[in-house]
Amino acid sequence: MKTGWKNNIHMLGARVLNLILPRYCAGCRKSGESFCENCLALSYKYGANCLICGQRNNSGSFCKNCRPQGSALKSALWAGRYGGALREAVRQLKYKKRKELAEPLANLLYKKFNEIYLEIKLEDCAIIPVPLHFKKEHERGFNQAELLAREFSKLSDIQLLTGSLLKIKETLAQVEVKDKEKRIKNLEGAFSVAENALSFTKHKTIILIDDVSTTGATLIHAAHALEKAGAEKIIGLAVAHG
Ligand SMILES: [Zn+2]
Ligand SMILES: [Zn+2]
Repeated sequence: MKTGWKNNIHMLGARVLNLILPRYCAGCRKSGESFCENCLALSYKYGANCLICGQRNNSGSFCKNCRPQGSALKSALWAGRYGGALREAVRQLKYKKRKELAEPLANLLYKKFNEIYLEIKLEDCAIIPVPLHFKKEHERGFNQAELLAREFSKLSDIQLLTGSLLKIKETLAQVEVKDKEKRIKNLEGAFSVAENALSFTKHKTIILIDDVSTTGATLIHAAHALEKAGAEKIIGLAVAHG
């Protein structure tokens, strides 16, 4: 694990390299852009599906059988499948610390949001990123969901709230937990709300942002913590699913 000054030097190095080296597309390695128009277009999938069973519905809401019992999480949208260029872009943002990828990836979030939620009143909404545990965030140097949420906020003019939702338990990456029940257990009690940051309850709709959603378990647990603290309606929005 890189900590303290070692991490700072690593981050500085990454920044210097970004300045020296020409940009290249995370998807097709074409030079000049961090994620080219073509790869963006190929990554985007029109329409919406139930996140759990995949049934097409054009609203992103959960179908009757899949709806998390009594949850304030009403729907979950994702912009593209976690594969090919999109997977490469998400991985390079997270693991190669190519923070400039947050901007094109947030464009995908914004496009999906506009495609499905034409009617929503922006002033009623607030954006909250899915948090990382502070140790993980320190290790990586940033929270990719927060970078995405920040760019999405700039594009949409919807207020960004950080520091409201916290991850208080270190968990295994969901992909490392094979068993479905263990996945749910893994995240139990993982999220909490900061008691001095309850301003989100003034907003009718919370848009919860994450980079990748596989089973929806992270969104469901994060939404549960917000709901316990008074959030009325929560919608999930992820860059990729799979
Ligand atoms: Zn490309
Ligand atoms: Zn379903």
